[in-house]
Amino acid sequence: MDEFGLIAELFAPLAAGYPGALNLKDDAALVEVPPGQRLVITSDAIVAGVHFLPDDPPDLIARKLMRVNLSDLAAMGAEPVAVLLAAAFRRDATADWLRRFAKGLAEDVAEFNVPLIGGDTVATPGPLTLTLTALGRVEAGRALLRSAARPGDVVYVSGTIGDAALGLKVALGELPDLAAEEAEFLAGRYRLPCPRTALGPRLAGIAHAAMDVSDGLCADLGHICRASQVGAVIEAARIPLSAAARSVLSGRNFLLASILGGGDDYELLFTAPVTAADLIAAASAAAGVPVTAIGRVIEGDGVKVVDGQGDEITQPAAGYRHFS
Ligand code: ADP
Ligand code: MG
Repeated sequence: MDEFGLIAELFAPLAAGYPGALNLKDDAALVEVPPGQRLVITSDAIVAGVHFLPDDPPDLIARKLMRVNLSDLAAMGAEPVAVLLAAAFRRDATADWLRRFAKGLAEDVAEFNVPLIGGDTVATPGPLTLTLTALGRVEAGRALLRSAARPGDVVYVSGTIGDAALGLKVALGELPDLAAEEAEFLAGRYRLPCPRTALGPRLAGIAHAAMDVSDGLCADLGHICRASQVGAVIEAARIPLSAAARSVLSGRNFLLASILGGGDDYELLFTAPVTAADLIAAASAAAGVPVTAIGRVIEGDGVKVVDGQGDEITQPAAGYRHFS
């Protein structure tokens, strides 16, 4: 398959239903933004051997790529509109591999109702490198910024925290005594994140600051604190854990560091004034995504984690850095 065949056979079907994509037959796509709304744009690149293993299933690679970008839109409070894919496929990629990749992408295009409206397709002698750009929209002035946390805000997270970090340990064979069902749940949370696309837009105009948890709860809350010039205190006991994570943790409290410091959960971490509690609960119910209050924003700086007695728990190491 040459690149034209690839685009026509594998990618053009994913543009269906979006007239501005021009069936991927023109030079670029046309995107309409309703008056009073802002286009929200984010891009993430993933590289074989860095973000995933070269022999990972291609459909999962595609879906994870899609989902980490949709998670960024959700963290801005934006509704997804469309995605673009710049793909540097390996020169020796087989037609079967490419079809499975496109099939995975198609599944998520359908699941999240976000068409593929453009991109670029090249071959590389180097590692497979994929860049997805996601477009979203949000009402002007309502985007959820990291810099908007205020002292007195409640700190919330969606879903459960730490599953992906424990799932990675499962995948690496570091938790061999776990029940099969729990191991599978945790590994699945690592392999295929669930972006909170239903919740994020419902928090726009209600929450103050927000971001998605990709570096670890503490590191990411630290990002909000620095951007907002505030501090935060979270209570370890209030961090929502899945049943599987709970059973891993029981009797192995040293693994709490994985929960606080492990990334890849792609849950939403956000702050909101105390008075917004009812609106947050309504947004959570409407989205079908649980949210839990885990602490407070305070004046000052830094993130403190406390136990049930209010004593500080030692902080885990900072999040992953590419250039250190
Ligand atoms: P050129 O290189 O001349 O810009 P391309 O052949 O790269 O043209 O692109 C033709 C059309 O196909 C464009 O609309 C482009 O956005 C789209 N396209 C190319 N690659 C992809 C891809 N991987 N996914 C989605 N659309 C793509
Ligand atoms: Mg091109």
